[in-house]
Amino acid sequence: DASTQTLGFQTEVKQLLHLMVHSLYSNKEIFLRELISNASDACDKLRYAALSNDALYEGDAELQVKILFDKEARQVRILDNGIGMSRQQVIDHLGTIAKSGTAEFLSQLTGDQKRDSHLIGQFGVGFYSSFIVADKVEVLTRAAGTSASEGVHWISQGDGEFTISTCERTPKGTEIILHLKADEAEFADGFRLRHLVRKYSDHIAVPVLMEKEHLGEEEDAPQTPEFESVNQAQALWTRPRTEVQEEEYQEFYKHVSHDFADPLTWSHNKVEGKLEYTSLLYIPGKAPFDLYNREGVRGLKLYVQRVFIMDQAEHFLPMYLRFVKGIVDSNDLSLNVSREILQQDPNISSMKTALTKRVLDMLAKLATQDAEKYAQFWDEFGNVLKEGPAEDYANREKIAKLLRFASTHDNQAKARHSLEDYIGRMREGQNKIYYLSAEKHTTALHSPHLEIFRRKGIEVLLLSERVDEWMMSHLTEFDGKKFVDISKGDLDLGDIQDEEEKKAQEETEKQFAPLVERVKEVLKEDVDQVRTTHRLTDSPACVVLPEHEMGLQMRKIMEAAGQ
Ligand code: ADP
Ligand code: MG
Repeated sequence: DASTQTLGFQTEVKQLLHLMVHSLYSNKEIFLRELISNASDACDKLRYAALSNDALYEGDAELQVKILFDKEARQVRILDNGIGMSRQQVIDHLGTIAKSGTAEFLSQLTGDQKRDSHLIGQFGVGFYSSFIVADKVEVLTRAAGTSASEGVHWISQGDGEFTISTCERTPKGTEIILHLKADEAEFADGFRLRHLVRKYSDHIAVPVLMEKEHLGEEEDAPQTPEFESVNQAQALWTRPRTEVQEEEYQEFYKHVSHDFADPLTWSHNKVEGKLEYTSLLYIPGKAPFDLYNREGVRGLKLYVQRVFIMDQAEHFLPMYLRFVKGIVDSNDLSLNVSREILQQDPNISSMKTALTKRVLDMLAKLATQDAEKYAQFWDEFGNVLKEGPAEDYANREKIAKLLRFASTHDNQAKARHSLEDYIGRMREGQNKIYYLSAEKHTTALHSPHLEIFRRKGIEVLLLSERVDEWMMSHLTEFDGKKFVDISKGDLDLGDIQDEEEKKAQEETEKQFAPLVERVKEVLKEDVDQVRTTHRLTDSPACVVLPEHEMGLQMRKIMEAAGQ
């Protein structure tokens, strides 16, 4: 008929589909989690839209997900009575990938299955995971509030194109029909499906219904099928912490974050008092592809009295904690709260202060309890956390405690030393924290500036990330000890320098004064100053920057920015 159109998938979708089918094979059962997650999101969205337009329920406000199967026909069907999709939405959502970083993601794929499956997981799998187990997928849907003639039928074999047509459809919401591949028939089975719902979707807040199984004689079976809820159907964060299993927290994370891997850690808290809210905050195990895109996806899922309000509410955490995922459920906000209101509400800013503290405390706890996981966190997100001292002056001491550095203590490139470690190893009489920044770790490691420190056994932190110099310009001291860039200005080793040494140095300075004068004369076009130094033990001379001069890295960043 005239409404039928066959369209090609966007190239990126084709690539993703191909990869997914070939590399997620050992995880194929996750398709069910993804489809239930979408169905639950669709119910959340309808409940929110209906707050301002009750008619959208179309007389059917008991939102739910249903799973049906047919062994003989090798079919599994997932139905929801949520928001549904219009024809254009189907084309947009089930034919393209709108995610930022998609091209970068695809360019990183190698063809090595193990590596790629890891990357795909990180990227998020979603609806397209249906094609891991199905060789044909149909979607029947109708957007809530539209007429029955505006149903949409989408069909694809996952081979590069899909067909879409308009159809009659009475119920609102979406139905996904999976035509299972011959060797995936095992999924059209009540026992298997129930097991998977409990394993992956127990925390979903809407009921997931399946037909009651009648094990007795055929005659006993009732005429009309009876349904029962397979999951707990209670929003996970409303349950007491002690009653939620670790695995449930992990599965819930995958639902809210659209991530595939387990989180590193989380913090679940109910706050009572002037403001009442519950938060469940997660630290992901892997950085998303758009972490450094400051316009990228960030923020928490916001609920008000358990009603989903919006995704990506970025008002509850500062930019430097943009890697945190999770939910916040407020009892005080109004159900028709908007982004503009969130922006201005003073209560939101006090929640932001409290949630920021929660995250910093959670990280501090992870650092003391599990060094290995903390190292993983640091390698993934450390450079984002380093934006903290500049953005959040009030918490800079707390943030500084979480920082990790490479150091001359072991000369390793991996940043593993905390400032507290450093202070614990300071020499007697030392009252400053010495650091050196360079473009690369190896450059720092071989800097002549380190010679005197090596000789005296004084540890120096080695900074070689792009953000380091900028961060250090916002950190002047830690635990009462000043930071000193050893490549700048006059080096004052304070009390570590003994009297005798000082005298010897003065002697040397006198002795070399004429030489210094001569060098000054020769180099006067190129340098500000020439002086004798006691910093070097092996090299005859080195160039230093005046104390208040911009560092080299900083200078490069400014130049790159065209300044
Ligand atoms: P994600 O859930 O991460 O956005 P998916 O690939 O799982 O990605 O889904 C893509 C989009 O398709 C969803 O964001 C949603 O807009 C739409 N969608 C998928 N399933 C449904 C559904 N059951 N009801 C309504 N919209 C859906
Ligand atoms: Mg999804």
